[in-house]
Amino acid sequence: MPATTLAPAPAAAPDLAALAGLNAEQRAAATHPAQDRALLVLAGAGTGKTSTLAARVAWLVQQGADPQRLLLITFSRRAAGEMATRAGRLLHRVAGLPPSVAPPHLPWCGTFHSVAARLLREDARHIGLAEGFTVLDRGDAEELMAQARQAQGLAETTGRTRFPLAATCVAMHSRCINTRAPLAEVLREHFPWCAMHEAALASLFAAYAAAKAAQHSLDFDDLLLAWWHLLQAPAAAARLRARFDHVLVDEVQDVNALQADIVHALRPGGQGLTAVGDDAQAIYAFRGADPQHLRALPGRCTPQALVLTLTQNYRSTPAILAAANAVIAEAAEGHALQLHSRRTDGLRPRIVTVADEAAEARGVADAVLAEREAGVLLRRQAVLFRTATHSAALELELVRRHVPFVKYGGLRFLEAAHVKDVLAVLRWADNPAARGAAARCARLVPGLGPASVARLLEGGADLTAFTPPPAARAGWAALAALMHQLRAAPAWPADLALAIHWYQTHLERLFDDARVRRGDLDTLLRLAATQGSRSRFVTELTLDPPAATGDEAGPPHRDDDYLVLSTLHSAKGQEWSAVHLLRMVDGCMPADMATGRAAEIEEERRLLYVGMTRAKDSLTLWVPQRLHVTQQRAWGDRHLYAPRTRFIGDALLAHFDHAVLTPPDATGPTMEAGAPLLNLAGLLGGTWAADRLIAPPEPGEPGQNRP
Ligand code: ATP
Ligand code: MG
Repeated sequence: MPATTLAPAPAAAPDLAALAGLNAEQRAAATHPAQDRALLVLAGAGTGKTSTLAARVAWLVQQGADPQRLLLITFSRRAAGEMATRAGRLLHRVAGLPPSVAPPHLPWCGTFHSVAARLLREDARHIGLAEGFTVLDRGDAEELMAQARQAQGLAETTGRTRFPLAATCVAMHSRCINTRAPLAEVLREHFPWCAMHEAALASLFAAYAAAKAAQHSLDFDDLLLAWWHLLQAPAAAARLRARFDHVLVDEVQDVNALQADIVHALRPGGQGLTAVGDDAQAIYAFRGADPQHLRALPGRCTPQALVLTLTQNYRSTPAILAAANAVIAEAAEGHALQLHSRRTDGLRPRIVTVADEAAEARGVADAVLAEREAGVLLRRQAVLFRTATHSAALELELVRRHVPFVKYGGLRFLEAAHVKDVLAVLRWADNPAARGAAARCARLVPGLGPASVARLLEGGADLTAFTPPPAARAGWAALAALMHQLRAAPAWPADLALAIHWYQTHLERLFDDARVRRGDLDTLLRLAATQGSRSRFVTELTLDPPAATGDEAGPPHRDDDYLVLSTLHSAKGQEWSAVHLLRMVDGCMPADMATGRAAEIEEERRLLYVGMTRAKDSLTLWVPQRLHVTQQRAWGDRHLYAPRTRFIGDALLAHFDHAVLTPPDATGPTMEAGAPLLNLAGLLGGTWAADRLIAPPEPGEPGQNRP
């Protein structure tokens, strides 16, 4: 039964807000009359912003809104799916429908980029775009920028000045587009060491844009820019506005200038706009996001948007919340919202000091397994870290102990060479002008060297016009036949199976671990079935690759139990019963590279706050005292002694319980003279048990603090 038949509900329909268990504040937000004025819900972590947004979707549908005409912008594909499920569940309960009836399908629920890609596919011709345009991921964009940089002769070092690398050029370009700031300003503010290259950069960016246009390709930023341009053309803008009755945005603190402009252009005046966010959780300034757009939102609407706040935290225990509140209270920019926990139970969070990263890995694995023994499923536990490489030791430890895990935000699935190869086949099939994809496919054919590939590209990547050298004849014929078939008779997902079949011989020739990599390609095949068409599949995957958002790529079966490993950035919006934060030492938190500017340090502090507020029942911060660092230079690797993160100074220690975990063979206090020590591993026979805490040290105790 189609979802729209659920609405409108009869006058006597059960009260949805009551059914959803909303409190009075949440209820006011969920049932705010949409035609009245825009609504901004400004509230702290775990106060139910996302839940309220889901309830609002259900309420709007109950009031008669068409689910097809709701635009719901979330942070990831997984968040979008979660939103649709939650809203569907509520509607079911309200309407008293049997479980066999499908929940309302929310076709326009996704990230800014994925919604942009879909709208542009439909409207491409209005802005002179080819319908089969290719979306370039960051790696593709860097490759294209490198080619333009080379072509303009900027790759050579002149005198003592070296021109910025392609990746840096892409970062500058992206910042200009996303913050809508002129190049000179971006250079002055963020890349002052490149300011002398302003003129050359401007012409490089023009060449980069021309190359993209010639290849019918858009990078991530172009997707937003093109969407915004569509909204500037009166006819297209009217069409786009008329297509949606409601626009709802989650995590609005992390929008950039361009995204904010798009939202306001979609709902001028603000009627039908709902946004929820928390400026204490703004963690994407490094990509051009600015919580200023959240603060400015009410004033950009006419009449001014209604601002509601939520103050009850339902997620964390009072002790965890008190510690998180204390961390954010020290922020330079005051975040006024102090949250109150609805819960009354629970342990205090703890800081565990260990000798080094190996001990950290063992300690975390012990703790996770002990929790599982106590009945907390692995998937209700998470280990979070600042940088993807920080979990390397833990990953080894988990593999050694056969603990299944899935990692989010690490090496992205799409960065793996074999996945890129197969996707290049699909991209070239869709867009014959996609030179990057054509070159990637051609390079796979044995016997086609750089000169032949260049000749193919010069001929416009034309399959029939190209004559391969004799050594490559058979290999080229197989590729050309595949391309012809994919273009002449597209069939989805059979096309992907064909591409993988063609690739299999190359896979075996190119990689020693072909069997393992084949597993990734099988994952691709499974994912393919979830998308309706080839171009939709490639675009969605490029925008929101599984390893980054953790949809299907990790565990082989959905019902398997697995531990979650995630970067702090990818943990946004989520929650787990038990949370471990790795490497809570200066240099890792805040990250080394952030230590320059005060604003960057503040963003790191908010990142820690985001991490701490993911925990429901138990939170552990790990402090390894020694870290192994790989040196770039000749004198080899060495160890660094790392002080506890500056964000948890002495004054905050009272919020935590403290433990020092020494190796099983340690005979005495080896780590911190003066700090209370307990050989926990010895005490517990090498395993971690529930109650191994010791009293917190007095503030200022030697050895506990950074210099
Ligand atoms: P974040 O800022 O981290 O994104 P949030 O404000 O979006 O958090 P939610 O994820 O919506 O918060 O909710 C946090 C937790 O609180 C969830 O487990 C949710 O089910 C629960 N919760 C929210 N509102 C209520 C309520 N009224 N009664 C009981 N539990 C609630
Ligand atoms: Mg949320």
